[in-house]
Amino acid sequence: MATVDTTTAHSTNGRGAGAEIAVENPATGEVIAHLPDMPAARIAELAIAGRAAQPAWEALGFEGRGAVLADFRGWLMDNADRVVSTIVSETGKTYEDANLIELVYTGGALRFWVKHAERFLAEETVRVRTLVVAGKKLVTRYEPLGLVGIIGPWNYPLVNSFGDAIPALMAGNCVILKPSEITPLTSLLIADGLAECGLPAGVLQVATGRGATGGALVDEVDMIMFTGSTATGKKVMARAAETLTPVSLELGGKDPLIVLADADLERAANAAVYYSMLNGGQTCVSVERVYVEAPVYDDFLARIMDKVCTIRQGASTGPATAEVGAMTTGAQLEIVERHVADAVSKGARVLTGGHRGAGTGRFYEPTVLVDVDHTMAAMTEETFGPTLPIMRVADAEEALRLANDSPYGLAASIYTGDRERGNRLARRLQAGAVCVNDALMNYMAVELPMGGWKASGMGSRHGAGGIRKYAKQQSLMISRLHLKREPFMFPYRASTSKALFGGLRLLFGRRRKRG
Ligand code: NAD
Repeated sequence: MATVDTTTAHSTNGRGAGAEIAVENPATGEVIAHLPDMPAARIAELAIAGRAAQPAWEALGFEGRGAVLADFRGWLMDNADRVVSTIVSETGKTYEDANLIELVYTGGALRFWVKHAERFLAEETVRVRTLVVAGKKLVTRYEPLGLVGIIGPWNYPLVNSFGDAIPALMAGNCVILKPSEITPLTSLLIADGLAECGLPAGVLQVATGRGATGGALVDEVDMIMFTGSTATGKKVMARAAETLTPVSLELGGKDPLIVLADADLERAANAAVYYSMLNGGQTCVSVERVYVEAPVYDDFLARIMDKVCTIRQGASTGPATAEVGAMTTGAQLEIVERHVADAVSKGARVLTGGHRGAGTGRFYEPTVLVDVDHTMAAMTEETFGPTLPIMRVADAEEALRLANDSPYGLAASIYTGDRERGNRLARRLQAGAVCVNDALMNYMAVELPMGGWKASGMGSRHGAGGIRKYAKQQSLMISRLHLKREPFMFPYRASTSKALFGGLRLLFGRRRKRG
């Protein structure tokens, strides 16, 4: 575990001074740990250790690696209280947010990858359909990349850091995990737990540090899995281009929720409130903006207000002690304030909330904004806070046009009483993950690929692609030995050429009958 030293706090919340990072509890303002800000030379040492450990880890095979990670799943559940309190202490999120999304997701992901990694990375014989290679054996196979770098954000220090390490490890890679400087304690605790479960030294190492540490990691590894803001994602990709290191980028979003007139308004209102306020609104796939068809707008809004006004906000001290927790970073709190002020200056009304919470911790009140439009940052930029801007629209076509009017394309939701219509409209939404009569929880479906379109990312996590990205693909063509040479090799013979190519032209030229 990290050194806990509250006597030498220089500054707070991931900043610290020089080579040291101060970790703060955002719900109380208390500094809870100091950690090293690792320089590039230290990352190079970790890379050497990781590369040295990798062959033995790969040699354990899926069964051996799976045994360690399955054991760790047990550790995680046995130590759930410790893990949850660490997450709560460094993020300021509630007990339920830490349990449901962080712990339950990770338990499920461990189970999923341990069970399915081998199947997704199994060698496959490919059916030959290309005439000139007829008779040969075609095979695809995968092997680990070697050393994978994972850079994570602060909003889900377990899911979006270690969560992405699980398939990388199951594929036979070693991992260097660079958690956010704001929330590094969870990753350190996880590394301790893995060591207790027999994970060999060097297989998963935690690199604490700020952005420069992340940059140094990009230079050292065979692949980067990055989760964070779009602005940083671009820097990571540019740096990775220097070494042609592959990247997978999971970035920001501005996810819309559309409510059609035939929707179950109670279900839609519950979803809009919960999925915009969950984790204090600090979820990449949070509901960030809502479009409601005019005939049901007033009814929907009344339901929203009933629900938002009963939300309890505060420092979470155990089960059901608060519904909305703290803003994890001061910088994010300022963005939320700026978006609300900008919206109000352009004519929006705040129906509830709209201020910082009282007390020492960092809170922003659950906030409902109406009379909003796309001139306002609250409707176009990622807010990442407990705000719910709601816009009245004429019809589904206007809702779709506005939902797609965004540089982002992470997730989107549509509520309607007509599932088939919802299904059709969902396909017109420009987002990598779309829900009909649901939102956000599709993230928990590890079977289903999830990745952003447009400025929301590149590549995806979950499903077969979520582990194959951590592997090198090799294709094999194995020819039989009964021919001394292929018919089209030197020396050419006119008779063979004519027969072979004439025959092929006839075959390729055969036209399908129309009508
Ligand atoms: P961030 O981009 O500020 O930081 C993310 C990580 O990158 C941190 O570990 C940081 O230290 C590191 N970093 C900073 N500069 C770097 C550099 N130049 N090179 C390498 N690494 C560098 O993001 P954040 O504020 O921690 O997280 C919030 C953002 O993450 C939001 O935009 C949110 O939508 C996004 N996010 C996306 C997903 C997703 O799955 N799409 C999930 C969670 C969060």
